[in-house]
Amino acid sequence: MEQITLYKIAYKGLKGGSYDFDFQVDDALFEAYDRVEIKGGRCDAHVDMKRSDTMLELHVSIGGEVICECDRCLEDCPVAVDYEGDLVVKFSDEIDDYDGDVMWISPSEDYLDLTQYIYESIVLSLPYRRVHEEGGCNPEMLASFGQITEEEFERMEREAEESDQVGLDDTNRQILEALKQQMEGRD
Ligand SMILES: [Zn+2]
Repeated sequence: MEQITLYKIAYKGLKGGSYDFDFQVDDALFEAYDRVEIKGGRCDAHVDMKRSDTMLELHVSIGGEVICECDRCLEDCPVAVDYEGDLVVKFSDEIDDYDGDVMWISPSEDYLDLTQYIYESIVLSLPYRRVHEEGGCNPEMLASFGQITEEEFERMEREAEESDQVGLDDTNRQILEALKQQMEGRD
């Protein structure tokens, strides 16, 4: 992973109290994570931070738009990002842990690095299904998938989602995964 220094807070020199920070998220962040889930995009991240002797309490809001692969036509598809979350940062030389809600850093660190937190929060905020709005898919791509019509694909996806919810043995999901792989193989 490339080194990104953009999403760091120099908390050391700050006295106890409340602060806020703004970060611009752009393609560089998604490139650093090899564009696996997200190909690119632009978001604004706003951080409200409360500094005390023993911890930092952060409230993070992220809004904007990212580019994902459309589940239906596999072309680039804009997806809105709207995330709100809390992060507690504690200091310790013995513990080096991060579970998404609590992050431990060494008191000798000069900066709090939010790169991973911001990236993961954006990924977590994405909907399960990422598709163009109705009629927005590339018709040539859809046609090139042959016998699978848009309606058929959607019906199978719907059934897969429903069977997920009731916890049934989902044959459709396996078929859907196989179809998706087939489609990806035609890139
Ligand atoms: Zn599409």
